[in-house]
Formats: sequence, C-alpha cells, structure tokens
Amino acid sequence: MADTRDALVDVRSGDRWLVAVAHPDDESFGCGSAIAYAAVHGAQVTLACATRGEAGEPVPGSADGVDLGVVREGELHRAATRLGIARVELLGYRDSGFDGAPPTGSLCATPLDEVAGVLTDLLREVDPEVVLVLDGSDGHRDHVLIRAAARQAVAAHRRADGRPLLVEHCLPNGLLRRWLAEMQAVRPDTAYHALDPATLGRDDADITDVLDTSAVLDRREAAIAEHRSQVSPFDGLSPELRRAFLTADHLARVELGVHTG
Ligand SMILES: [Zn+2]
Repeated sequence: MADTRDALVDVRSGDRWLVAVAHPDDESFGCGSAIAYAAVHGAQVTLACATRGEAGEPVPGSADGVDLGVVREGELHRAATRLGIARVELLGYRDSGFDGAPPTGSLCATPLDEVAGVLTDLLREVDPEVVLVLDGSDGHRDHVLIRAAARQAVAAHRRADGRPLLVEHCLPNGLLRRWLAEMQAVRPDTAYHALDPATLGRDDADITDVLDTSAVLDRREAAIAEHRSQVSPFDGLSPELRRAFLTADHLARVELGVHTG
C-alpha cells in the first residue's frame, strides 16, 4: 500500500532525512531543533556540509595557531552527535566568506550545476523522505547557493509520489522583529538601528509548518555549545526570546512544480 502519511509531521523510525548546509554551525545555530526532532523520532539523518567554515570569525583564543577549518570540523562532528545525526558528509568546498571575490575552490566559485550534481548523487544514495535546508534569507551567499543547489537537486530527483519533501528552515519576520526590538533596547549604540524591520527573515505567510521542538531543547543547547569557536546568535537574548527561537522551528515546504528539464 502506498505510504500516504505526511513524512514531516509524522516522522517514523527508519525514515531518512538529508540536511544540506553550507558551514559547520548552520546545523546547530540554524535547523538544529528540527534535526533533533527527526532523530529522536527514529529518523536516520545524513548531514551534508559544503565547507569547513574556515572563513568564519573565531572567538578570540578559540583557534589560536591552528587551522580554523580543522577546529570547526571537530565542532561539527561533536554537534552532530549531540543532535543525533547518523552521518556527516563534508563536501570539500572552501568557505566563500561574506564578500569579495570568492576564493578558488570555494562554494560560490563553483558552478551551481556542479554543486547540485553532488547533492543529486547524495539524494540517489540516501533516498530520503525529507530534505531540509536553511532558507538563506540572511543573505549569506553560501547559504543562498546551497539552497539553490538543493532546489535544483530535488527538482531533478523528485519522484512521482512527491518524495522527497523539500523543506526550508526559516526565521519568520515577526520573530526577528521581536529580536531587533530587543537588540535595539539592549545595545542602542550599535548598528542594529540601521536594520529595516520589514526586510528581516522570511515573510510569516510563507511558513507552512511550526514544529514544537521543546522536547529536544537540551539536545539543541548541547549542540550549540559545541561550536565554541563561534559566537552564538542566541547569546545575550532574554530567556523568553531565546526560548522562542529554540523551541519552535518554522518551516516552509517548497513546491517545485513539474520538472520540465
Ligand atoms: Zn552558515
């Protein structure tokens, strides 16, 4: 009999999820609660991480005299264990950084088709029920590229029954407006005042699913804490706002339409 359940809300033991991110910490600072949620429900989660995040800004003293990429790869593996991820695949691109000409071998110096092809190969191998990516609405070019590559790969691979679901992890505008108001109140002397609230995050109307992930908060916090070389975006938030970020994951299902080649 055909499996007609909704694989996103009704996760079952033996399901397979493929999560594609650009950098170590995206899986924990970004979609960590959804990953832990799937894993505790028995899903086998494969994480594809495109780079080792070597262009990140290290916390002073956290990576002195050592290769930041090596430090961050170790953090990634420890965080993955905390989240219940079964397998980590490093795709071997260099971190492109925020701006400037993308370095040779970096994710953004690589043709989109090539990155999509790598993800398509993984899709064939893993054959997941759910593919999860960040929605890239923070504008980081590596996040934008891996999201585009995932869309292309799923469009090429998606079966007639609609599998796999492609789901984007989002930070809704309404939540980020609360965050901005709090930042502006706590740190009135910073650049936060220059941010336009209307442009933050994802339009709330795009959110199709909100996962209550409060049951896996401990796993999420433990994974975040493994990324010692990076400043957590949740540091310094009020307990209420921190909880709002970490105990509900906002997701948008992606309709890719008919693939016409
Ligand atoms: Zn990132």
